[in-house]
Amino acid sequence: MLLPHFEFHEPTTVSEACEIMGRLREKARPIAGGTDLIVNMKKNLIRPDHVVSLAKIDDLKGIVRENGLLEIGACVTAAEIAGSDAVEKKFAALAQGARVLGSPLIRNLATISGNVVSARPAADLPPPLMAYGARAVLMKTSGERSVDLNDFFKAPGKTVMDPDEILTRIVIEAPQGHYGDSYVKLGLRQTFEISLVNVAAFISLDGSDGPISKARVILGSVGPTPIRSQSAEDVLGGQMPSEPLFARAGEAAAGDAQPIDDFRGSAEYRRDMVAVLTRRALNMALKRAGSR
Ligand SMILES: Cc1cc2nc3c(=O)[nH]c(=O)nc-3n(C[C@H](O)[C@H](O)[C@H](O)COP(=O)(O)OP(=O)(O)OC[C@H]3O[C@@H](n4cnc5c(N)ncnc54)[C@H](O)[C@@H]3O)c2cc1C
Repeated sequence: MLLPHFEFHEPTTVSEACEIMGRLREKARPIAGGTDLIVNMKKNLIRPDHVVSLAKIDDLKGIVRENGLLEIGACVTAAEIAGSDAVEKKFAALAQGARVLGSPLIRNLATISGNVVSARPAADLPPPLMAYGARAVLMKTSGERSVDLNDFFKAPGKTVMDPDEILTRIVIEAPQGHYGDSYVKLGLRQTFEISLVNVAAFISLDGSDGPISKARVILGSVGPTPIRSQSAEDVLGGQMPSEPLFARAGEAAAGDAQPIDDFRGSAEYRRDMVAVLTRRALNMALKRAGSR
């Protein structure tokens, strides 16, 4: 499969990249790791006349933790996230998502911005990011805006981004107190597999052994976008954590899922797995909350 002809741009600053995207709009596509874009261009699914590389923009690199915020630059790879102490310590679910994304080769190229912007329903990083209430910072020539990832995805491959916008970084407010987080992925094989179902869970407790003050449950691969399970969160809020409570939350989450039948699994199986994985993710999150 050959790549179609295109013009390649290599800006070294965000404003230069925004200027190019503002001028060319739909004719251009940014490229970060290229693991999605190049495959889709080779398959002729997308034919941009211009490709704008973000790889030489230093401002889009690095993970910074300060003032209670974690900021992850657009070009930070899954491997860098998986290997970051700052992420592992406070954002274990995100580290888990990054560790199971593709193969080592893919993880070394695939970036957080590409994983978010490509808006695949089975992507590994959006569910944990949404569980923390992460925000995407978007930039174009006219200015910057920040969007909650829970409002970011519209359909498979579609987001709220304008054609001339660049995602510059992901920002997460560091949770405080007794909280626990986790990410569970089910694929057909154990490794190197996109999700059949995935679930990210976040709970915070009122005191070390108190009731659940806040809960987030995000379901991936069982709808056109990752789904925040309001029903599961309603079951959990204000209650003492327990195995039967988590089982009830799992059933509620299964009710919110919108799975499809395909060659990889039936809708019924996927729905059943949402209940199982939600219960498992909540148990894991509770264990982490207990150790903080
Ligand atoms: C063999 C294989 C296995 C895979 N396995 C998994 C898996 O297990 N889990 C998973 O989640 N994904 C998987 N993927 C998908 C892919 O690797 C990831 O989604 C990856 O994170 C995409 O990042 P990237 O930097 O390569 O994106 P790119 O290919 O560079 O870009 C993807 C899209 O995002 C846009 N984009 C990128 N960065 C920006 C930005 N900063 N601002 C605006 N637009 C931007 C591009 O224009 C393009 O439309 C796999 C892919 C392959 C080829």
